[in-house]
Amino acid sequence: MTTEADVRPAILWFRRDLRLADNPALAHALATGRPILPVYILDEGPVAPPVGSASRWWLDKSLRALNGDLQARGSRLILRRGDSEAEIHRLIAETGADAVFMNRLFEPGAFARDADIAHGLEGDGVDCKGWNGTLLARPGTVLNGSGQPYRVFTPFLRTLLATAAARPHSAAPDRLTTPTEPESDELDAWGLHPSRPDWSGGFDWSPGEAGAEAALSTFVARGLKTYSAGRDIPAEPATSRLSPHLHFGEISPWRAIAAARADADAGHVPSFEADKFVAEIGWREFSAHLLHAFPQIADTAFRPEYDAMPWRDDPVGFTAWTRGQTGYPVVDAGMRELWATGYMHNRVRMIVASFLVKHLLIDWRRGESWFRDTLVDADVASNSQNWQWVAGSGADAAPYFRIFNPITQGRKFDADGRYVRRWVPELRGVPDRWLHAPWTAPPETLRDAHVRLGADYPRPIVDHDLARKRALEALAIVIAGRAVEGD
Ligand code: FAD
Repeated sequence: MTTEADVRPAILWFRRDLRLADNPALAHALATGRPILPVYILDEGPVAPPVGSASRWWLDKSLRALNGDLQARGSRLILRRGDSEAEIHRLIAETGADAVFMNRLFEPGAFARDADIAHGLEGDGVDCKGWNGTLLARPGTVLNGSGQPYRVFTPFLRTLLATAAARPHSAAPDRLTTPTEPESDELDAWGLHPSRPDWSGGFDWSPGEAGAEAALSTFVARGLKTYSAGRDIPAEPATSRLSPHLHFGEISPWRAIAAARADADAGHVPSFEADKFVAEIGWREFSAHLLHAFPQIADTAFRPEYDAMPWRDDPVGFTAWTRGQTGYPVVDAGMRELWATGYMHNRVRMIVASFLVKHLLIDWRRGESWFRDTLVDADVASNSQNWQWVAGSGADAAPYFRIFNPITQGRKFDADGRYVRRWVPELRGVPDRWLHAPWTAPPETLRDAHVRLGADYPRPIVDHDLARKRALEALAIVIAGRAVEGD
């Protein structure tokens, strides 16, 4: 028998799960048989995680894509902005909804806020439920033999893959029933797309669920077969470029790894290539689980002794780094790729991050914050933990004394100079031999290449050997437990 209560609508609260397939909250909402109110709230409440400029660009397109996908199914996306809790209550009052379904966010602030909201709603008689729609395993469920969170990646991955049950793919529904009320904000009025100036001309991405599927298909057809070696060569399109799609939940990590494994099972690619890709998704997972277990590590060192590092305040060096004007071609190429496209290749992220924290001795949090604003895949957990990995202060981090040499890194991973020549065109004519250290080239070589150092392209802002020595001295201070003033 259908009662009045059965037909009251359920709010489907989209957050970073901007897709219709493989969406556990949506599947549950559909199973209740209620009308569904798909809602996205641009959170401006006290725990709103800061959304950087490049991520706002992405969010704008992803919400448009989701709205289009919903409209194609007879529904639409209702947009609201403000404090999440207040907006949910307002929607309940407007629509008579008595259920709120969502996929959980696991960052500490959002997780606690959602728990408070759920508690309050349950107290008001509203059915409020959350699922894990973004990670392979719910944080807090992958634990070592002592019941503690892992601090080392390899055993974490082993347990994750052994315990996280595979999820069968669930297709997007054909139709959704949504009441014609309530009103929605206009997305244009949110101003997520940059204007005055619009710096996004080089952003060549297809945000949204269809774009995520297309990126996955392209990767499986082309990049996967040489992934483990190709993923280190920034000029090669060998990686999946799924990171922003995964961050915004336009595709589930289950779907990504299932596609790679299916290709290996079919004998199209060696299984170690699929395994390597799965392991990289595992690093995303490791970062999220660590942050959930140790909430303070978004902005403090996982190894607290590293907070004694005598960081330098170097505004000139920081600006040169952000603008790709350090005089080290591979560093500059990476920073310019980031600015132009909202993305930087992983190998180059490691090189530029190491340059900032070790060559310039600038606090990793400054770099993390720049990345947060400029990356389309900016993610609190992955960003902070990768910065800490490079800085040596993270769980299972690269040792601080391993200081990337930007010249040899460039020669090794961009041997034919394709990456540097693309992003630092003023060095295009410099022969490979000198490309990664143009200041070592003979004057006639630079003249023939039309490069005047200090005019067309900067001289190195810091000498590698001196910077290395300074970084190791700073490390000695950390090791000795002696905090001193920065210079
Ligand atoms: P693929 O090689 O195709 O990897 C597949 C997926 O695995 C990625 O989409 C990503 O979700 C995950 N992944 C791969 N490597 C890592 C890693 N080291 N840590 C966590 N997840 C990983 N990644 C982000 O998603 N957001 C960030 O804010 C971010 N900040 C970073 C900051 C620094 C300093 C460094 C060194 C790395 C950072 N990364 C970040 C990790 C990595 O660089 C990107 O995930 C990767 O370059 C994305 O490209 P892709 O999708 O082609 O990767």
